[in-house]
Amino acid sequence: MTPPPRPNRLVDPPQHRTRADDRLLAVARGMPAFLFEVLLTSDGRGILSHVGEGINRVLAIDASEAIADPERILAMVHPDDLSRLRIAMGRAVRAGTPWEYEFRACPDDGATTWISLSAHPALQSDGSVLWQGWLVDITERKQVQLELLESDQRHRQLFDANPIPMWVHDRLTLQFLMVNDAAIAHYGWTREEFLAMTLVDVRHHGADDAEGGEGSPRSGELARPATAHHRIKSGRVIEVELTGQALTWAGRPARLVMATDVTAQRRAEAEIQRLAFYDTLTHLPNRRLLIDRLRQSLSASVRSGMHGAVLFVDIDDFKRVNDTRGHEMGDEVLVEAAARLKSCVRTEDSVARVGGDEFVVVLERLDSDPRQAAARADEAAQRVMNALSRPFDMPGLRFHSSASVGVAMFGRADDRIEDTMMHADSAMYRAKAAGRGTIRFYDPAMQVALQARAALETDLRRALSEGQMRLAYQAQVDASGRTFGAEVLLRWQHPERGPIPPMDFIPLAEETGLIVPIGQWVLETACTQLAGWTRKAATRELRLSVNVSARQFRQPDFVNRVERALSDSGADPARLRLELTESLLLDNINDCIAKMQSLKSMGVSFALDDFGTGYSSLSYLRRLPLDELKIDRSFIRDITVDQSDAVIVQTIIGMANNLGLMVIAEGVETTDQVAFLSRNGCTEYQGWLFGRPVPLPDFERSLVPADATAQDDRTAALLATAATAATPTR
Ligand code: C2E
Ligand code: MG
Ligand code: MG
Repeated sequence: MTPPPRPNRLVDPPQHRTRADDRLLAVARGMPAFLFEVLLTSDGRGILSHVGEGINRVLAIDASEAIADPERILAMVHPDDLSRLRIAMGRAVRAGTPWEYEFRACPDDGATTWISLSAHPALQSDGSVLWQGWLVDITERKQVQLELLESDQRHRQLFDANPIPMWVHDRLTLQFLMVNDAAIAHYGWTREEFLAMTLVDVRHHGADDAEGGEGSPRSGELARPATAHHRIKSGRVIEVELTGQALTWAGRPARLVMATDVTAQRRAEAEIQRLAFYDTLTHLPNRRLLIDRLRQSLSASVRSGMHGAVLFVDIDDFKRVNDTRGHEMGDEVLVEAAARLKSCVRTEDSVARVGGDEFVVVLERLDSDPRQAAARADEAAQRVMNALSRPFDMPGLRFHSSASVGVAMFGRADDRIEDTMMHADSAMYRAKAAGRGTIRFYDPAMQVALQARAALETDLRRALSEGQMRLAYQAQVDASGRTFGAEVLLRWQHPERGPIPPMDFIPLAEETGLIVPIGQWVLETACTQLAGWTRKAATRELRLSVNVSARQFRQPDFVNRVERALSDSGADPARLRLELTESLLLDNINDCIAKMQSLKSMGVSFALDDFGTGYSSLSYLRRLPLDELKIDRSFIRDITVDQSDAVIVQTIIGMANNLGLMVIAEGVETTDQVAFLSRNGCTEYQGWLFGRPVPLPDFERSLVPADATAQDDRTAALLATAATAATPTR
């Protein structure tokens, strides 16, 4: 080996030297230790390129001598250790990993010393590897170790009195040779029992431990503590962290081990883990863990070409339980819902809770065909919906609900987790908007609609204060064609988009709660109008029907609000009719009845709007203090052509008569419809035939008999009615 020109690395540290190296250097100067560098060229040659001056203190030769003849160093290694050193070195060089070794050396001065060697590799740009390391004389430390327990009284005391369990075991047979009091106390065996056992007897088998050569005949220290599971005498399994030190015990290779019990610590760690990744109520994964799993699912599905789906599930009306029955009941419902969700998906699918009553199901590997996959996701969504539609029967609560499910598919290479989640979320939103118990799939067109919705919401927030809301009045007439009142219908005059029909913004107003102030405005405007009308004979007797939305009606102070609108305006309550819908009443019937009754006691009356489209049973209707049923427009439309619609309308009218309720037909457009209705006992009408919803001045004008055309039309219609009514029915 020809030594290359020796670089003075101590003065001029190369770039790859780390801060730890620098610290080592500083320490090394005063120690029986020296640094060395061996350059391993890419063609396999090893060049000792640097040796620190400290070699003199360790091996009693000069650095220049060592550089000139590196073999001299190897020649000093104790013959018993040399072959093992070569094997370990060869292994480390092949693996290119840092290594450590302890061996005996016999320098020329005769005394045997213990040397610790450590080295780590640094790959150079030319493909060669620079091994840097250092050799330390550890003879003194070894001496201490060897004598540690055998002779030194002070160390012996340290061992015995140590509060951490410690023992010495034979490195080959693993027999316990000595244990301290803490080990006896902690493990529960007596000293005699301990000394009759081996380390294998305390190991808990089946645990996947990394007891880093605890029993292996390797010399040197354990670099890092190893973790092990031990079974103590009581049978309990504890987790311990082991640090060991090799020593010689009565001439045999042995190991001194310190076993720190980390069971409680690990449990705390697991608990923290659980809190961080699991929902404490349902024990389902939380959003964080879900995202993590979804990330894996996404990449797995791209690899396998199998499509998956994310289902966003929201329990309809869950808030109702929470609000009316308290959070504890709410919690019980959620726990039950979680269990149902888990039972209706496959084990490989994840169910997570991501918010109050929101759950997410991730379905993996559905199908390689996107359509098939979507079909299967739909099936799963149906199962989820069915599972949550079963009544929740728990002590003190019977809660009947449904679920809204939004579905987003994934499996394309460009799918991103955030998008997929957002898509499923917005699909769920759409499902909600479409009514209870609905499933909606996400599709890009929906995104556009969603953005439009957001814009609409912004505009809707200032519509009222900027005076963009108007009321249209639509006449309601009796059998003689006389207008006895009107229904007020909301109109939003959007500054840029023009008129927006109520069905396009009322659901949004419902969701956002904006319906409350808007509805209040409608109510107040109608009451003010009623009060104003009392001054004129032509309008004094008119009645106004006001639509009330579910959210508005559910306000705890709804009754007060109506009362205030009436008293503030001075309107006669008997002239105010509130139109409610069936779904609104279904919600909490007792509360509805109570509210209706207090309003009725003031003189306000009620109509059930859109009647026939809901699912009210007769017994149900009987309990409600209603005044009138309003037959839905959809039945009236085909009344003269569709036999079943005709039967339905006849039934409704019969039912109303039975219950002593009045009936009004909405959406009446033709004289034939009037004829049919009148023949079957319906005496009140509303529809285009009698007048479209119009601004107030137009409505008021239509009341004046001078408005000949309108009046003529109506008279004609009713004359026709009278004529048909006179002829015998089929
Ligand atoms: P609704 O209460 O059932 O109102 C009747 C709807 O039928 C009105 O639609 C009306 O314009 C329409 N209509 C009346 N006669 C005819 C006809 O002969 N033919 C046809 N094709 N349609 C007719 P509009 O004004 O679009 O209102 C739709 C719904 O919006 C209302 O249904 C009601 O549920 C809701 N709405 C309107 N104003 C308010 C309000 O102030 N508050 C609340 N909460 N909801 C309102
Ligand atoms: Mg109505
Ligand atoms: Mg209606």
